Amino acid sequence: MDSEHILIIGAGLAGTCLAHQLIANGHRIQLVDRGINHSTAIAAGMVNPMVFRRMNKSWRLDEFMTDARNYYLHLEQLLEHKLFHPIIIRRMLSSEQERNYWLERQNVQEFKAYLSEISPEDETYSLANNQFGSGRLKSSFWVDAKSYYEKNTAYFHKKGLLLKEDFDCTYFDENQLTYKGITYSKVVFCVGYQQMNAPFFQELPIQQTKGQTIRVRSQEIPENESLNRKCFVLPMGDQVFRIGATYEWDNPDLNPTEEAKQELMEHLRVLGNFTYDVIDQQVGVRPTVLDRRPILGAHRTIKNMYLFNGLGTKGYLMAPTLARELTDFMFEGKPLDKEISIQRFYQKLDL
Ligand SMILES: Cc1cc2nc3c(=O)[nH]c(=O)nc-3n(C[C@H](O)[C@H](O)[C@H](O)COP(=O)(O)OP(=O)(O)OC[C@H]3O[C@@H](n4cnc5c(N)ncnc54)[C@H](O)[C@@H]3O)c2cc1C
Repeated sequence: MDSEHILIIGAGLAGTCLAHQLIANGHRIQLVDRGINHSTAIAAGMVNPMVFRRMNKSWRLDEFMTDARNYYLHLEQLLEHKLFHPIIIRRMLSSEQERNYWLERQNVQEFKAYLSEISPEDETYSLANNQFGSGRLKSSFWVDAKSYYEKNTAYFHKKGLLLKEDFDCTYFDENQLTYKGITYSKVVFCVGYQQMNAPFFQELPIQQTKGQTIRVRSQEIPENESLNRKCFVLPMGDQVFRIGATYEWDNPDLNPTEEAKQELMEHLRVLGNFTYDVIDQQVGVRPTVLDRRPILGAHRTIKNMYLFNGLGTKGYLMAPTLARELTDFMFEGKPLDKEISIQRFYQKLDL
């Protein structure tokens, strides 16, 4: 395959996963990122394999999980920085029904990699409020999100592959795919929740879902596992924990609110009457889609222009696999899964 030169707008999860994939396939890339990130760098970076309510596996879990683990471990070597942190998630079961779902599935082959068998110790676990017992997840991990963004941008910048600036449309010719005098063979927009302010793909329903977390310091919250019910409690070391996250639909506001802080503290109370001090509060905005699937594909009229967006709440799990699938689509014409393809909206909009 001939080496091509690809312009990528946005160096968050979507843009960086794609950049690494394209380089691995022998292409040249140029990233453009304004250097302010309110999603990839703000995220808790947790990868939780399960959807607890009905105790189902997350969508396309097995393939996403394998690719994600390999990607972050490889990146640790490349960026010479620890990013990947395995963690046991302890779900404090919320009802008899949830407990029964767990018991039914824990010995089923396809769940064995993710659900530990509920032990007598899990039943009587006493370090958090325990009405219906608890269960431990295997294979979960978290990625140091702030470092992910900072180390990636530093890496690409050092190699001369990242322009730290606003993508300036006045220097872009969409017919020639020329930006600031350089002609590219393909252009990919990976701008996250700012998509509706971008010059292309504005017709797509990418929503702005504000999310807030707090960091607390506590001597009482267990540090060896991530407690989960109503909220997640992610131990970050030195008795510091990240508690999250809120969901505030259609809200791109970047200010922390007292309401969100109180909501998170209330959720933490469901897990236990821990004493703690609130250290600070984080705010970000996720790019979400109503059908909860990302949006990937080609622009309906502009040749060789593509979109990679809508990573929603599970970006850290999905992005590495999706970057590969978009690459295969762009270079080999391999069809994208109907559930993620941009075509599902173009058909609806009759475009
Ligand atoms: C509070 C919170 C907690 C979260 N927790 C988790 C979690 O635990 N696990 C998980 O998997 N996911 C989590 N997420 C979701 C995850 O962060 C997103 O799915 C993912 O980061 C989206 O990545 P992205 O690359 O699409 O967008 P972004 O990270 O927003 O990246 C887009 C980039 O494009 C750049 N850009 C935009 N417009 C322009 C322009 N005109 N010119 C130049 N550059 C531009 C921006 O500077 C930015 O760096 C969380 C999100 C939030 C807000």
